Amino acid sequence: MAQIAFIGLGNMGGPMALNLIKAGHTLSVFDLNPAALDNAKQGGAKVANSPEEAVREADFVISMLPSSPHVESLYIEKNLFQSIKKGALIADCSTIAPDSARKVAKAANEQGFEMVDAPVSGGVGGAQAGTLTFIVGGSPAAFEKIKPILSAMGKNIFHAGDSGTGQVAKICNNMLLAIHMIGTSEALNLGVNCGIDPKTLSEIMKVSSGRNWSLEVYNPLPGVMENVPASKNYSGGFGVDLMAKDLGLSQEAAISSRTSTPLGSLALSLYRAHSRNGSGKLDFSSILQFLKGSS
Ligand code: NAD
Repeated sequence: MAQIAFIGLGNMGGPMALNLIKAGHTLSVFDLNPAALDNAKQGGAKVANSPEEAVREADFVISMLPSSPHVESLYIEKNLFQSIKKGALIADCSTIAPDSARKVAKAANEQGFEMVDAPVSGGVGGAQAGTLTFIVGGSPAAFEKIKPILSAMGKNIFHAGDSGTGQVAKICNNMLLAIHMIGTSEALNLGVNCGIDPKTLSEIMKVSSGRNWSLEVYNPLPGVMENVPASKNYSGGFGVDLMAKDLGLSQEAAISSRTSTPLGSLALSLYRAHSRNGSGKLDFSSILQFLKGSS
């Protein structure tokens, strides 16, 4: 069993760290939020007072932070590499810009470390159940080394290619997720306004050609499905601001690769407007409330 440092214990990182402990690994953790640290401590993690202290003895360093500036600040500006044990493998699971992932991995290489980008899909439910999909960008050797560790937190572990390609796959996936969440919300709202029961409409569309993940496991209309953010006042889950961040990353990639992504661009505008209305911290399925005109 391995000695692992875990930095960033939010909605995703918290349950991911607990699954590593359940698999028998020893965890040293750090987060800026004391409540997140308390939770990890109760689950059996050793709480460190700084990221430097967390990584000192670790064979694997895993980070799960909000966005590119957080990741670059931790590894490059604060030069966390200086405190990491020789031979340790670093995996950043945050969703960040592919160029940022490549920049941090290059900085790691220059200081003698292998680093992979390993963003995830599957939401908070997947993080809790240990069924996440990991999409890894890095060398084949680093992929083979990190795979058994990621397997304690996920069900599908993919090697996407070289450094940064994990993030490329992730932002393509999330652009599509935003588009089908907006489409699902639009269809449900139309159905309700035209007089059909939303549960009935959802059951019909789930086995018809409109079926998709948002409809099957993450219904955006409150009360249709139990235990989804929509039925908990859009709390927990994947925040509107994080979705807007990912859509921004996909649009940056579209511009730099001269790719036409009209629905991705529209999805970004809608999520930005929803966030500006004060809904940035709500789960992203709350876009349905925006379409209803009630946010
Ligand atoms: P979150 O905001 O709930 O958690 C982020 C955590 O990082 C917080 O606990 C925060 O205190 C901590 N943090 C920030 N800066 C730090 C620092 N310098 N040192 C230590 N801790 C620091 O976010 P989340 O929902 O857990 O998402 C994390 C990442 O995973 C994001 O990149 C997101 O896009 C991605 N993601 C989220 C979901 C989801 O459903 N929530 C799904 C897939 C991917």
